[in-house]
Amino acid sequence: MKRKFLGIDIGGTNIRGKIISEEGNTLGERKTLSDARMGISRLMENLAGLIEGFAGEGISAIGIGIPGTVDRASGTLVQAPNIANTRNFPFTEILSEKIGSATPVFIENDASCAALGEYRAGAGRGSNSIVMITLGTGFGGGIILDGRLWSGENGFAGEVGHMTINPSGPLCACGARGCIETYVSQVAIKRIVSEHAELSEKLAGTEESALPESLAELAREKDQAAISVWNGFGANLGVGISILVNILDVKTVVVGGGLSGAWELFIGKTLEEAERRCLGGMQRGLQVKRAALGDDAGVLGACYVAETGLGESC
Ligand SMILES: [Zn+2]
Repeated sequence: MKRKFLGIDIGGTNIRGKIISEEGNTLGERKTLSDARMGISRLMENLAGLIEGFAGEGISAIGIGIPGTVDRASGTLVQAPNIANTRNFPFTEILSEKIGSATPVFIENDASCAALGEYRAGAGRGSNSIVMITLGTGFGGGIILDGRLWSGENGFAGEVGHMTINPSGPLCACGARGCIETYVSQVAIKRIVSEHAELSEKLAGTEESALPESLAELAREKDQAAISVWNGFGANLGVGISILVNILDVKTVVVGGGLSGAWELFIGKTLEEAERRCLGGMQRGLQVKRAALGDDAGVLGACYVAETGLGESC
């Protein structure tokens, strides 16, 4: 019998589930609220409810992308800053109890899932190794080397947002100063705008989540201060990319997430800075590509986590 894989992407607002066939075709999709801010118990209830909605589908394995650090071997959620009460939470054990099923469950970091999704079905297709950067609230990442997700010795690989680009820079949520996330993310845009009197005034009353798009609109209307913020954003992204490329020697860097909507406003400076700092320059064949799958990358990547997890445990 042909196998089916269920992929689940847990976000701050929604939990999305998708079933794919062995050939990679989508067979079904469902969505529910995550209520992540109300804590892990509520989240687990919602997750179990979503999975039960797929009952009778004959699923071979479940892959789940979680916004946090995971120990995939034991199925433990080590930490998730945006979900309360989650330190060393036995995720797969509790979930299997809740859904009362022996279907294997594999967990993975959500940004790593997005990287897998883009690698297999999006902008990374045809590449051997990629780094994916997700520009959202923070600066997320996932690394695929020689066709395999590189998780690291402790599951922390791909935490590219905490590359230090200025040791005396702004304080980051991780407790250090000058991480690239404090310069290239939604949080960074909020800080930069708040420190700029003229921009603060023009964007007063804009919700934090809408701030990058409003700032992009200003830049498209040729507002010089807004243009200069995006130039700085792009240049710092280029610095980050050059660090990753100089260490990993990948040819493909995929950039996605909500802030990639301002692509044309920052990519020129990104390429300029990457060219300047990558040893051997772009003639090595480096390509910085815009992600192709949008929100689908994470949930599709989770389907692949289910598939590869099953392959490895067989
Ligand atoms: Zn940091």
